[in-house]
Amino acid sequence: MKKIQNYINGELIAPKNNQYINNYEPATGLVYSLTPESDADDLELAVNSAESAKQSWADMPSEDRSKLLMKLADAIESGSEELAKAEAIDNGKPISFARVVDSYRSASNIRFFANATTQFSSECHDMGSVGVNYTLRQPIGIVGCISPWNLPLYLFTWKIAPALASGNCVIAKPSEITPMTAYIFSRLCIEVGIPKGVINILHGTGLSIGAPLVEHEKIKAISFTGGSSTGKAIASVIAPKLKKFSLELGGKNPTLVFADSCSSEEELESVVSEVVRSAFSNQGQICLCGSRIYIERSSYEKFKALFIEKVGDLKIGDPLNEETQHGALVSEAHRDKVFSYIELAKEEGGTILTGGNKVVIKGRCEKGYFIEPTVIEGLSSECRVNQEEIFGPVCTIQPFDSDEEVLAKANGTEYGLATSIWSKDISRCHRLSTKLDFGIVWINSWLLRDLRTPFGGMKSSGMGREGGLEAMRFFTEPKNICIKY
Ligand code: NAD
Repeated sequence: MKKIQNYINGELIAPKNNQYINNYEPATGLVYSLTPESDADDLELAVNSAESAKQSWADMPSEDRSKLLMKLADAIESGSEELAKAEAIDNGKPISFARVVDSYRSASNIRFFANATTQFSSECHDMGSVGVNYTLRQPIGIVGCISPWNLPLYLFTWKIAPALASGNCVIAKPSEITPMTAYIFSRLCIEVGIPKGVINILHGTGLSIGAPLVEHEKIKAISFTGGSSTGKAIASVIAPKLKKFSLELGGKNPTLVFADSCSSEEELESVVSEVVRSAFSNQGQICLCGSRIYIERSSYEKFKALFIEKVGDLKIGDPLNEETQHGALVSEAHRDKVFSYIELAKEEGGTILTGGNKVVIKGRCEKGYFIEPTVIEGLSSECRVNQEEIFGPVCTIQPFDSDEEVLAKANGTEYGLATSIWSKDISRCHRLSTKLDFGIVWINSWLLRDLRTPFGGMKSSGMGREGGLEAMRFFTEPKNICIKY
């Protein structure tokens, strides 16, 4: 059985305790590799290595850092097919999706921040004849990056890249549920000659290695993406230590469809296709997926009919099959959690319009964790299915009658990550955007990303922002220097 290794001090090594946990292929339900269950002893090695590397990495001219990161982005690009396949096996997502989303974005993340390091600048405040201030933005030192399983290498690199670009050494922990591409990534770091200790990758569970990483005195900042309850627990540990932290957490995102966005058949076709994509991409396991869909009443029936048809047409199957559009859920436990919400929806009075069942696929995927894409109607906004994050291929549809009503419903959960508005009335779109309590508002689009923009959520969806300058600023400490003339 293939054993994944930690990447510490530039080398691939086994965990000191020699303990491993099973790594499952979600599409088959079989163990196909073993993941280190690293602990505080491995962390100590990684911290010592990062300590030795941190001064020279911080002192390296940004152009040289940029060149190394560009080489890493090139290596990801060259290995993109291997990475896409590994992601499909490890996570259960369709390989066609892994290719254009996961592999592509992992390389773009590194390339974007490789450029950013050469463009990053700081402020100067002129005091006229009295003096001048300039502000240095210095690396923090050693930082921790913790990522989830839904977009494994994509979100892993989204954190590591700005941390490295701004001159920090990184100790990173990928999700224990999807460790494979972070392991391949560590091989690429060796191949391109990232200096020893600059990046250390430790595998294991939240308990065995995540918690010690968050608590370690020498790790001065934590960038975390994951569930809201984990984020809150981490915040309660970090806050008294006065470390910097950034939390990207869960979502329960509303999609607002106005009748004027789909007045012709062509428009209806295009809006429904995009709303299907926003609800079910990656089996609904993207923090940004729109899982509460509100449709203006006059268009409700025609939208519903086409929506159900298109959702029913999604091809469920082996993630390694090129035609598959809907793969397996990431784990048995997660499949069961998602399924329990379908059962709950029935108890809460909902009607399943399409889907609602576990799927058995003949052949090698017989024991895989598949659930049909599911659409539910007839639930109130207050019920648990419409309030809690399900993070799977389950969405609800509801009609609405006015801007005020849909605004109140959209804002009516504890979450505030992302929303999309579909309407041709641009003043309404702007007006609603100012009142929607979400960190990201898409108008007539979904998941249209510009890596320069601030990315993150309000309320229980997080704290702080990633992306562009926000990330470069998070990973640096501003130091003001005041000179009197
Ligand atoms: P999770 O919170 O269970 O785990 C995330 C990571 O934290 C994993 O690496 C895990 O091992 C680690 N971890 C768990 N407990 C820890 C602890 N006590 N200390 C330190 N680390 C710990 O989340 P998940 O199930 O992997 O991911 C799904 C969640 O992530 C969903 O809620 C989803 O919405 C959210 N998410 C948010 C964003 C965003 O950008 N806002 C993006 C993707 C996913």
